[in-house]
Amino acid sequence: MGNANAFEVAQKQFDQCADILNLESSVRAMLRVPMREFHVWLPVRMDDGFVRVFQGFRVQYNDSRGPTKGGIRFHPDETIDTVRALAAWMTWKCALLDLPLGGAKGGVICNPKEMSLGELERLSREYVRAVYQFIGPDKDIPAPDVYTTPQIMTWMMDEYSKVSGKNQFGVITGKPIGLGGSAGRGDATARGGMYTIREAANVLGIDLSKATVAVQGFGNAGSHAARLCEEMFGCKVVAVSDSQGGICDEKCLDLEAVCECKLNTLSVVNLPNATRISNEEVLGLEVDILIPAALENVITEKNAPDIKAKIVAELANGPTTPEADDILYKNGVHVIPDFLCNAGGVTVSYFEMVQNAYMYFWDEKEVHASLEKKMTAAYHSVLKTSQEYKLNMRQAAYVHAVKRVVEAMKSRGWV
Ligand code: NAD
Repeated sequence: MGNANAFEVAQKQFDQCADILNLESSVRAMLRVPMREFHVWLPVRMDDGFVRVFQGFRVQYNDSRGPTKGGIRFHPDETIDTVRALAAWMTWKCALLDLPLGGAKGGVICNPKEMSLGELERLSREYVRAVYQFIGPDKDIPAPDVYTTPQIMTWMMDEYSKVSGKNQFGVITGKPIGLGGSAGRGDATARGGMYTIREAANVLGIDLSKATVAVQGFGNAGSHAARLCEEMFGCKVVAVSDSQGGICDEKCLDLEAVCECKLNTLSVVNLPNATRISNEEVLGLEVDILIPAALENVITEKNAPDIKAKIVAELANGPTTPEADDILYKNGVHVIPDFLCNAGGVTVSYFEMVQNAYMYFWDEKEVHASLEKKMTAAYHSVLKTSQEYKLNMRQAAYVHAVKRVVEAMKSRGWV
């Protein structure tokens, strides 16, 4: 992924918004940095009998609007600055969707692809013990993110329950159904993104049943997005990629075969008869909709001029640098910014928290309907601001979100 420092990107985006809103210096000082962060070192006994020490983080960016919420990543390239950036974006995301939550994020530097299930379980439990006193249903509620799964969430919830001596479904979201999870959480991030793509296509006059799509990143967010583009709108998904590279078929990929190939060989690139392309090439394809759904800083000033898509739907967090943003805006590309486009995940996570609190569970239809309402409203409020004030969609989303956080801090008397 690109070399830009994700937290510097997040701060630059915030600074632009602070200028637009003419925020006073105390407010800027408070919102440019996290309120709290925890650095932990986690001793884990590996299968070979030796103990390895992993470094982990939890960053609580701002809790003026409610307990903080945000995923945990297990990734070999994890850094504190990435976690800070992601925690900031969670703060704006929860505010934009008007959820009564602040923003947080966690991460552990590790390579889950090289760890056994037993090692992953011991690491997950150790992480929870290390941050136990700082998280909880009323304080900070983690969730899955890159390379963390419902199984990992279950181990974490179980460890927290064991230490506190009672069942604690509400400490974490993204759990499996039957263990406090919500219907509709699995594809919530992608589905939420679909509602925003549908609205954007309406605004731009794009007929989705004839539209072509490229997806970078074929994990939780990306694979569901590819499937739903086809299922909900009849789009043609012509390219997908993962960490090994990409594949394309200008007629249309057989998504069932792609999923099977990913499951059996751990990468989409092994699909027989598909043309192999690089991750970079996926971004520049002649398609109507480009969905970055992998990691941050992939659309930069270098490749932004080559992007031909009419809509860039950012399911990944932070895929576009500020310099690239300017180029895309000038070129008339409609960007659905990350903390709007991928907010479906945290929205259904919030529904999961609500269901955990009163131990009564909704069916999938109810979850989808509530998600659709929230995402559609958020998209249109951002679009309206962008049109009224001549801002790009990201700046408009920032204006909405930051205003709400500032209001909460002022009401509490913090600034
Ligand atoms: P995941 O671990 O399920 O999938 C990540 C995918 O990205 C994998 O297919 C991996 O092979 C691929 N990938 C890794 N490096 C790559 C590279 N260099 N080029 C192309 N592909 C690469 O993770 P996920 O949960 O789908 O998250 C993906 C993005 O979506 C992240 O930015 C995450 O923060 C964001 N997001 C996820 C959720 C969620 O609910 N899962 C919610 C909001 C935002």
